[in-house]
Amino acid sequence: MSEPGKNSPKQRKRKPLLTPEAYLQGIRQGDRVRLGQAITLVESHKPEHAALARQVVEACLPYSGQSIRLGITGSPGVGKSTFIESLGMYLIEQGHKVAVLAIDPSSKQSKGSILGDKTRMSQLSAQPHAFIRPSPAGESLGGVARKTRETILLCEAAGYDVLIIETVGVGQSETAVHSMVDFFLLLLLPGAGDELQGIKRGIVEMADLLAVNKADGDRLALAKEAQRSYRNALHLLPLKESGWNPPVLRCAALHHEGISEIWEQVLQYQATTKESGYFQQHRQEQAKYWLLEFIQEKLTQLFFENPSVKEQWEQVEHKVTSGEWSSIKGGEYLFGLLGY
Ligand code: GDP
Repeated sequence: MSEPGKNSPKQRKRKPLLTPEAYLQGIRQGDRVRLGQAITLVESHKPEHAALARQVVEACLPYSGQSIRLGITGSPGVGKSTFIESLGMYLIEQGHKVAVLAIDPSSKQSKGSILGDKTRMSQLSAQPHAFIRPSPAGESLGGVARKTRETILLCEAAGYDVLIIETVGVGQSETAVHSMVDFFLLLLLPGAGDELQGIKRGIVEMADLLAVNKADGDRLALAKEAQRSYRNALHLLPLKESGWNPPVLRCAALHHEGISEIWEQVLQYQATTKESGYFQQHRQEQAKYWLLEFIQEKLTQLFFENPSVKEQWEQVEHKVTSGEWSSIKGGEYLFGLLGY
């Protein structure tokens, strides 16, 4: 295999790339440095890394899929990282290996990620059986989602059997996380009976469990009230395809309260849906969804990179915006340049 980027001085200083087999071997042996390097490869924007990254992911694929993939969302400050740290520590005590990934399309290269940050989960990140990786930076949501999905496969091949994917409760990133996890958990604040209006209905509908966090001290009564009103609100939602009725629980992540009860529900969900066949069916649907996403992304890229399209784009755009051509005519014309 050739070593890419030999001519660039910046590249020369970097560690040489390995063969796919070497990455696989390191990953399978639970070598976290090797796993980290493979993820960096997956996240790389360099075209010369893409083929190798693909080979590594393909090599890991037969060893992946055995974990439970858990999505966690909630507004900033609700206690996501505190919860993940508490749950993660609990799971490690139970003998699990836990990987925490994040999806945060807004994170910038320079600042690093606000999510999945090691400093936010200091206790968990010090554990040999935990692996914490921030969101790939400087990416569109589509890019972040694809890379995170591949990272899940690498982590599974490395023996992590609980994958936690964290995202912040704003906008489209929930949909992306939902499309790659088995179980989706929504964290809520107490005293927020009215908050239901504030949270996008779609997110509540996606959730397999709602947990009212910070149910401690003065806020316990408020938390109970919130729990009741969420329970009532959930009754109004249509039955989920999984047949699962999302429970509404309380927890106090900071004090490690209610964590094991939530985990019990995850296990219960896993057992029920594996028995009904939904678990596998859901993963198959997700795989199909990602196939279609990839094709759409690729088609769009091929279309806009086509030299004839590039050359005539502005002209056609002008005709359409000035009203001379309809949007459809403009589109058909451009496709015509590609022979369609
Ligand atoms: P995130 O932004 O959703 O990740 O929230 P953090 O985990 O950073 O928590 C935000 C703040 O809430 C921190 O100061 C935590 O200590 C606090 N917090 C988290 N969980 C609890 C809890 O169960 N009870 C109380 N009282 N505070 C909590």
